[in-house]
Amino acid sequence: MAKRNIVILGATGSIGESTLKVARKHPARIGVAAAAAHSRFEPLAKIAHEFHLRDVALFDRAAAARARDSGLFPAGTRIHEGAEGLLALATLDGADLVVMAIVGTLGLHPALAALQAGKAIALASKEILVLAGKFIMAEAARRNLPVLPLDSEHNAIFQCIGAEPRRLVDRLILTASGGPFRDFTAEQMRSVTLEQALRHPNWDMGPKVTIDSSTMANKGLELIEARWLFDIPQERIDIVVHPQSIIHSLVRFVDGSILAQLAPPQMTFPIQHCLLHPDRAEGASAPLDFSKIMTLELRPPDTGRFPCLRLAREASAVAGVAPAVFNAANEVAVDAFVKRAIGYTDIPVVIEKTLGAIQNREPETLEDLLAADAEARRCAGEFLPRA
Ligand code: MG
Repeated sequence: MAKRNIVILGATGSIGESTLKVARKHPARIGVAAAAAHSRFEPLAKIAHEFHLRDVALFDRAAAARARDSGLFPAGTRIHEGAEGLLALATLDGADLVVMAIVGTLGLHPALAALQAGKAIALASKEILVLAGKFIMAEAARRNLPVLPLDSEHNAIFQCIGAEPRRLVDRLILTASGGPFRDFTAEQMRSVTLEQALRHPNWDMGPKVTIDSSTMANKGLELIEARWLFDIPQERIDIVVHPQSIIHSLVRFVDGSILAQLAPPQMTFPIQHCLLHPDRAEGASAPLDFSKIMTLELRPPDTGRFPCLRLAREASAVAGVAPAVFNAANEVAVDAFVKRAIGYTDIPVVIEKTLGAIQNREPETLEDLLAADAEARRCAGEFLPRA
């Protein structure tokens, strides 16, 4: 396999760190061409030195100015800034693959621009497909470029489907850890605190994803993403609770046979699979060890206690801007919960009210989607219960 040059947008977050770990493991196969961060320039400077980067970007302009004055970056490194800085890196000459690991809607234009510049993309940012799946997948198909899933569940499905023709795929089965409240009663759910919601049993992730995992909104977003990545409608995507997070997802074929992908719950596995695809090499983390007893449990989710899952399905089924509205309302509600402005069980209430208030429509452009996103954020803000 020829050496693959990657650009990492979101290099200082947890996905970025795991991506760099994989790159360090395989220096002959993976070159890091450029890296971007939101505002944390000190860790970005370390990455620039380690990988001899000529181009970096900071989305935050004030941080970019401080970075230039800091003297921390290697001499000659260009420090790009703002949204155009992300675009410059996403379309960088000599880069083969762009790893999209920036949170929020900031990744939308860079992801599309990378494809238009003929680069493969690997997606960790959920918003890209949840909002713009239609545009991203159409652009990738037009240019015959891969959209590689970095998320553990989608990567598992991608591995299980392999080269099988799509007509042989009957159902996708996404696994969900169920989060810390999988065994809570409805009564207990009502008094969940922020501290409880921030404690995930298996995965070490940022606060937004950890809360989303506890409400299962995360699984809802993944369902919407899977619909686009694999061109399978949401009614043929099942969700099964698997508390151990060892089986990352499964695919059932038309004959009833099911393939699953297993690995320890560490992001280096799906990331390395994407970066080396279609090749494989020794992993950057230790594999599963069957010399110890291991129990793998699978059970159906309780949508009654996890209404975010039902709302995500409804949004996916009607499509249009509804998935964007679901995502935006969830972000507003989670942010309010993290600031202790609303209770835990208010999160799905805010989402449902916002979905009901915004007229669904078919987006024609990314700007349409961003307008729906902004409208949903405003609207959700008004639905936040006043303390
Ligand atoms: Mg996931």
